Amino acid sequence: MIRDKTFRDKLESIVSGKVLFDEPMSRHTSIGVGGMTDVLVFPRSIGELSRVISYLRDCDVPFIPVGNCTNLIVRDGGYRGVLISLRELTAIDHRQSSFSIYADAGVPFSEIVNLSIKKSLAGMEFCAGIPGSVGGGVKMNAGAFGSELKDVVDTVSLINGRGKTKVAVKDELKFEYRNLDLPEGTVILGARFLLTKGSREKIQRRVSEIIGMRKRKHPLEYRSAGSIFKNPPDISAGKIIDDIGLKGEKIGDARISEMHGNFIVNSGKAKAKDIISLIDMAQKKVWEEKGIHLEIEVKIIGVD
Ligand SMILES: Cc1cc2nc3c(=O)[nH]c(=O)nc-3n(C[C@H](O)[C@H](O)[C@H](O)COP(=O)(O)OP(=O)(O)OC[C@H]3O[C@@H](n4cnc5c(N)ncnc54)[C@H](O)[C@@H]3O)c2cc1C
Repeated sequence: MIRDKTFRDKLESIVSGKVLFDEPMSRHTSIGVGGMTDVLVFPRSIGELSRVISYLRDCDVPFIPVGNCTNLIVRDGGYRGVLISLRELTAIDHRQSSFSIYADAGVPFSEIVNLSIKKSLAGMEFCAGIPGSVGGGVKMNAGAFGSELKDVVDTVSLINGRGKTKVAVKDELKFEYRNLDLPEGTVILGARFLLTKGSREKIQRRVSEIIGMRKRKHPLEYRSAGSIFKNPPDISAGKIIDDIGLKGEKIGDARISEMHGNFIVNSGKAKAKDIISLIDMAQKKVWEEKGIHLEIEVKIIGVD
C-alpha cells in the first residue's frame, strides 16, 4: 500500500507542505543516524494534519509524530510507515493578562525562551538550550536544572487517532518523569505555558547562566540525542557510567562522551547499530557492576 503511486499521490494532494518519500532519517535526527522512512510528511495546518491522520487510519498505515528529532534514534533499516513532522505548525502568542504563552507543537523552545525574556515572563528559563520542539518536549516532559515542563504547562491541545481535537488541562494529564502518558495515536498540537511576571534582567541572566553551564558540561560540538538514560532515583546516570570507567568507550564512530557519561556522540559516520550496541553495553555493565537497571530515555524506532 505505502509504495503504491495512488497512496503517495493522495498524500501529496492532502498536504501543501513537503512530502518526502524514502527519506534517510540521518538527515533529520540530531545524532545523525537513521535509515529511510517510507514517508516523512510536513502538514502545514491542523486541518491538513487531521486529514493525514484520517487517511492513514483508513489505509491502516502506521505513523509516528516527530518534532525536531533531538531525542530520536531511527534504526538503520528505517521506519515502515509515515513519520509526521509537526515542524511546520509554528504559531506562538502570549497573553500578558494571564502571563501565559501558547505555542504550536512545532515551535522550538529557543523561540519560547526568547519571547519569555522579551515579555518579562519567568518560568521557561530551564528550557534554554533544549533543542527540541513543544510537541516533543511535552511528550517527553523535558526538564533540566530541577524543573520540568509539567511545572509550567497549563493546557495541552491534542488530536486523537480518529481526528478528534481536545484541549486537556494539566490535571487531566498523566505526566511522569520524562514522559507524558497519552493514548496510542494521539498527537500534541500545542501547549499553553503558565508563567509569572518577572524581571527581564533576572530572566536573561538565568538563561545565560544555563547556556553557560550546558556549554561547560555537554559535548555540544558533536552530534548527539541528549541524555541516553533516565536518571535513577537520587543519582545521575552520567555519574554511574563515569564511576565504572565507561567514558570514552567506542563502537565504530559512536562514543560515550568523555565530557558527560550520559551522552553518546556521533564523531563521524556512526550507524544506529553502533549507538544501540553502546547503549546495550553500558546498560549491561552498569547492571553487572552496580545492580542498577538504567532505563533508556531516548526513543528508538524502526527496524534493523
Ligand atoms: C544537545 C542536547 C541537549 C538536550 N538537553 C535536554 C535536556 O536538558 N532535557 C531534556 O529533557 N531533554 C534534552 N534533550 C533531548 C530533547 O531535546 C528533548 O527531549 C526534546 O524535548 C525533544 O523534542 P523533539 O521535538 O526533538 O522531539 P522528537 O525527538 O522529535 O520526539 C521525541 C518523542 O516525542 C514524540 N513526539 C514528538 N512530537 C510529538 C507530538 N507533536 N505529539 C506526540 N508525540 C510527539 C516522538 O514520537 C518521540 O517519541 C537534549 C537533546 C540534545 C541533542
